[in-house]
Amino acid sequence: MQAFEVLESNVRLYSRSFPVSFSRARGSTMFTEDGRKIIDFVSGAGALNYGHNNYEIKAAIAEYLASDAVIHGLDMATPAKLDFMETFNSVILRERGLQYRFQFTGPTGANAVEAALKLSRKVTGRQNIISFTHGYHGLSLGAIAASGNRFHRAASGISLSGATFMPYDGYLGPAVDTAQYLQKMLLDKSSGIDLPAAILVETVQGEGGINVARKEWLQSIQAIAKDAGALFIVDDIQMGCGRTGEFFSFEFAGLSPDIVVMSKSLSGYGLPLSLLLIKRAVDAWRPGEHTSTFRGNNLALVSATAAINTYWRSRTFSQGVQRMGELMRSRLEAIASEHGNSFAVRGRGMALGFDCQMVELAEATTRKAFEKGLIVVRCGPNDQVIKFLPALTIDHETLNQGIEMFEESLVETLR
Ligand SMILES: *Cc1c(COP(=O)(O)O)cnc(C)c1O
Repeated sequence: MQAFEVLESNVRLYSRSFPVSFSRARGSTMFTEDGRKIIDFVSGAGALNYGHNNYEIKAAIAEYLASDAVIHGLDMATPAKLDFMETFNSVILRERGLQYRFQFTGPTGANAVEAALKLSRKVTGRQNIISFTHGYHGLSLGAIAASGNRFHRAASGISLSGATFMPYDGYLGPAVDTAQYLQKMLLDKSSGIDLPAAILVETVQGEGGINVARKEWLQSIQAIAKDAGALFIVDDIQMGCGRTGEFFSFEFAGLSPDIVVMSKSLSGYGLPLSLLLIKRAVDAWRPGEHTSTFRGNNLALVSATAAINTYWRSRTFSQGVQRMGELMRSRLEAIASEHGNSFAVRGRGMALGFDCQMVELAEATTRKAFEKGLIVVRCGPNDQVIKFLPALTIDHETLNQGIEMFEESLVETLR
């Protein structure tokens, strides 16, 4: 690992927590160069919902590569892009009664968020974006302006503007309805809050500590956006693509966002691919107003189509994720109540967080887990929450092994 310390910038992060070289991976298991076997509960921060080197998806990519079909064509029309849009339309959108246009953005989630914010400002002629405490939307200047984390905000090195933060669901305790607070601030012409171009929300805050918004709260936020003449944007970058048990994380609340932001597991294979789903009525772009060299890379579109065809043509996969999520939750809750009275377990579907309350405990537990052969990462305002994002395709045995390693690590740390 010494070569990485010498050659790679100080900015590197995960190779510090996991100081080994990972050479191969399959499903939920990663193998280090020196032959260790490691269970992966990080899943590329939610970019590998279908596991590493998913066999079915790989077959589609390998065939496409072998055929000399177009890989990169800016945003030119290709059969691969058409196939993706038609498949997504019929299998995902039409099945759920949703109608959207596709905007392929640059390959990062942050670029898709930038596009969503720009479009909202263009449509409404307003500047302010309402976002929420502990929200995370990426690190480019527009996206970080709408994100809460002080460490990342400070790294921008420039004043961040154009966003106002409101308390997320539960931020002020269970007794306070923060949607009501937001509504009052927007209705009051002298509240000091400019009318927003958009309200930007995650239904479960991934980086912010696995904070879960209630269905009623989300429905209120959508209604408040509508009343205020603002666009309602769901950032489904981390919680979409099945993570919470359904394809979109907002299905359980019956929401109909004006814009949905997707990235991370969209390509299904860890290839970079991001897009916006935008309602036709707000598609106010002029040709080329938001471009990028790598928009809708065809190889990533082929893997995205294969992922949809493999997992989303029936309800079986989704039901399996929900069952496995419940299993994980009850195991983690049992661990929480057995080993301490201040631990909390939060989440929805297979996005779960184990709140250790103390950063030292969370840090030592994840370090010990890695020694035992499990990678998990931390999130939350104080990095005190251990985040569980196993692949949605994980088998029960590996899932149980991973959870056992976590429990042993916690117990040994507490001792
Ligand atoms: C990861 C993430 C982003 C940023 O995506 P990048 O590809 O890292 O730019 C934005 N929003 C949410 C909710 C995320 O989890």
